[in-house]
Amino acid sequence: VEKDWQMMLRLRSPGGHIPPELFVALDHLSDQLGNGTLRATTRQAFQMHGIKKESLKTVIETIIRSMGSTLAACGDINRNVMAPAAPFTYGDYPVARRLANQIADVLSPSYAEKTYLELWVDGDISYKISPSNEVKKVRKNQYKEGVYSGDIKEPLYGSTYLPRKFKCAVTVPGDNSVDLLTQDIGLVVFTNAKNKLIGCNVYVGGGMGRTHNNEETFARSAEPIGFVSAEYVLELVQSILALQRDYGDRKVRRHARMKYLINDKGIEWFIDKLKNNYFKYPIKSLRKEPTSKLLDYLGWHKQSHDLYFVGIPLLSGRLSGEYKKAICKLVNKFKLDIQLTPNQDLLLCNIGSYQRSSIKKELSNIGIIKPDSPEPIQRHALACPALPLCGLAVTEAERILPEILDRINTQLSDLRIQKTLLFRMTGCPNGCARPYMAELALVGSGLDQYQLWLGGSPNLQRLAKPFIQRMPLTSLEETLKPLFISWKNSKKEISFGDHMNELGDQNIMELLSLKDKE
Ligand code: SF4
Repeated sequence: VEKDWQMMLRLRSPGGHIPPELFVALDHLSDQLGNGTLRATTRQAFQMHGIKKESLKTVIETIIRSMGSTLAACGDINRNVMAPAAPFTYGDYPVARRLANQIADVLSPSYAEKTYLELWVDGDISYKISPSNEVKKVRKNQYKEGVYSGDIKEPLYGSTYLPRKFKCAVTVPGDNSVDLLTQDIGLVVFTNAKNKLIGCNVYVGGGMGRTHNNEETFARSAEPIGFVSAEYVLELVQSILALQRDYGDRKVRRHARMKYLINDKGIEWFIDKLKNNYFKYPIKSLRKEPTSKLLDYLGWHKQSHDLYFVGIPLLSGRLSGEYKKAICKLVNKFKLDIQLTPNQDLLLCNIGSYQRSSIKKELSNIGIIKPDSPEPIQRHALACPALPLCGLAVTEAERILPEILDRINTQLSDLRIQKTLLFRMTGCPNGCARPYMAELALVGSGLDQYQLWLGGSPNLQRLAKPFIQRMPLTSLEETLKPLFISWKNSKKEISFGDHMNELGDQNIMELLSLKDKE
């Protein structure tokens, strides 16, 4: 008897863009051939769970024929490229979205795409991604020594691809919705008065994944290498990827992300290697950026002079039941594009002024009356799917997030604290919901036990630190109480994470009655 294989499938959607016909197809596929739900991931893509092996061809073929793709959404390759989800047609936003698309194309596996189309749509090349002229130009140079692997079929990746997954994000100055410092490459676009890209600040070497009880693995935030002019940005991302391809650790998989290469060899070594062997153009001094904010675009916003978009909160990115049905009806009826946010929310876009009142009414029918005011603690909380959907999970995350948020909320209100905090939770240390940047995070470490992380910042600029290795969930309130009281008694108007950071390790350990950081 053959095993009843079920699979998870993830889409490629740079910057989180989902055209209406694709969303309608996904909604239908998830009902007919999946587990009935869709999940917006923290990398702005939809995931479908519960796809049976025998349905795989139908599902992927339908996705491709509905303007979607799953190419390179998983594996040791560049993953979905992130960008601010807001569909603003003015300022730097269109530039950031365009660059994210170009990066997704320029880092796509070229030969694998041919095989991919052969496999799923009988070789129909009309579905081939058609790259922009800039991408074509960079690809023409693909045989440059160093950057290209020498493999004729797959010039950039070579026959063995990368040592591990690779992640890129683009943003505009001041908008940290993409969690920029958690990426292998983070780019901040700068534009001129005509909104043309003039170049990017470049950050490298971020990454969340780690392994419990293995000091050689750790979360790391990216560090800057400088500013690169617009005409060389695509060359630069290829060059950085090629450096990691050639020097990343291929012996120990857990040590294979680019963050370890940079950490072990040092950023100076990395920049020298890049300049000497891969990238011949200038890397200038970093440009000044405004302080970053974690933006989420919930509620109604003007997208252009005559269009609007509305951001709808989704807890853990999950769309199911009547909610999913109603969103699909709206998307289909008004032909609305969707943008998925890194915060796992969903923006309905391209809404004409004359459509606003009907859409508001339909949203209120499913209980979305004030989309810009979810419960404060829910607003930026993230959880990964964990049990029962992820094979690496050791604990629950998504399924118990509502209960945990309720418990934290109740405790804050019992202590008369009228502030909120940024909370994230995962079922294992792999860190898919980027817990190590949160003000307070729980990371599954054993049966119903979690590591406690404290001290990230509300704008995702600082790594948190672990304090307890195995905290049973039953001890949540008792553990947090002294920390919350200390926060309440702080004389400053300060966030929870900043307060933890200012307290320092020793004081936190005293509050937690720990002799040593566990
Ligand atoms: Fe990622 Fe671990 Fe959560 Fe699975 S359990 S989704 S690997 S963080």
